[in-house]
Amino acid sequence: MRVYADHAATTKMRASALKAYTDAANEFYGNPSSLHSEGQRAKEVLEDCRARIAALLGANANEIVFTSGGSEADNQALLSAAKWGALKGKKRIVSTAIEHHAVLHTLKKLEKEGYEVVLLPVGADGIVKVADAENAIDDNTCLVSVMLANNEIGTIQPVEEISKICLAKKVPFHTDAVQAVGHMPVNVQALGCDYLALSAHKFGGPRGVGALYARRGAPLYPLIEGGAQEKGKRAGTENLPAIVAMTVALEEAIAELPEVTKRVSAMRDRLIEGLEKVPHCALNGDRVHRLAGNVSFCFEGVEGESLLLYLDDMGVSASSGSACTSGSLDPSHVLLAIGRVHDVAHGSLRLTLDGTNTMEEVEYLLSAVPAVVEKVRSFSPVWRDLQEGKRSFIL
Ligand SMILES: *Cc1c(COP(=O)(O)O)cnc(C)c1O
Repeated sequence: MRVYADHAATTKMRASALKAYTDAANEFYGNPSSLHSEGQRAKEVLEDCRARIAALLGANANEIVFTSGGSEADNQALLSAAKWGALKGKKRIVSTAIEHHAVLHTLKKLEKEGYEVVLLPVGADGIVKVADAENAIDDNTCLVSVMLANNEIGTIQPVEEISKICLAKKVPFHTDAVQAVGHMPVNVQALGCDYLALSAHKFGGPRGVGALYARRGAPLYPLIEGGAQEKGKRAGTENLPAIVAMTVALEEAIAELPEVTKRVSAMRDRLIEGLEKVPHCALNGDRVHRLAGNVSFCFEGVEGESLLLYLDDMGVSASSGSACTSGSLDPSHVLLAIGRVHDVAHGSLRLTLDGTNTMEEVEYLLSAVPAVVEKVRSFSPVWRDLQEGKRSFIL
């Protein structure tokens, strides 16, 4: 059996999206900027997609900018608000310690350019405290950025409460909703955000395409200069087949959301309950305020990389955290932020499910994962020290 349990890293394209992609590439090959019939037809399809994506998010069509994905959308939101801030003499940015690297690395760059970046801590539950956000915002703050759902531990952040504070203090608010869109209800009016980033390949669309929602009046500057596409906010000939496929994928994801959420969260809960029986392990992130498909654990006395390799041999595709940190030896910044010490953070395992997974696969995971943990522990010097009492258990 092969079980793909890494849907937070990327998803297989939905059949409907793949068909929409090839059909659009075939039929709407005109350049939307061209004046001839093929161009105008492509332009109509493009604007139809924009209206449909906007409707799904509770936005207006002219508030949607198509991008190359979540990273670009995050970059554009952050850099636009920062630029506006500099013009106003406000150079403080408030965000969180558990953001995706698309946000964190952009903030690092802004810090080098003289911005003051404040990263809010999270509790052991992996959730930022609203009061901390409120206290961190001052008159010099030009942007607050808090992700809606975390990509490693799946925790859902109190974005609505924080955006209310931002609105009252007239500070632009961005949310990286890449893990949330298509996986939980997302409405920009309810969230009260000024910017929101989404990415198609996290909900069964193609990779390399996403969108930035920017509320009317929110500062917005292009990252890419060139033609006047996207009303001058994003130059480059539009990736129409990908945009069409993203639209179809999101419509389908949202239509099936109630049924899928029920089924996937039942699989998640079964998996969590089963894995908790492994000795010396702990669930990462709050049990309730988490994405329907996210299961994240730390196993003490385990080296995460070996765990992943042996699991792959057993037919299980999993992750240690984010696809971006795996391959590096630094433990995940998210696990450190929830208080896991380095050794424990190294023994992390993330299993992310979606509607394509089955309960049968979950049962298989429940036999494979504990067996592999035991195997990896059997040749771990750290585990031996723990057994012999030369080190004490943390979990
Ligand atoms: C995947 C992801 C991104 C990056 O999106 P890409 O489309 O891969 O650039 C940003 N933020 C979060 C939370 C993600 O999970």
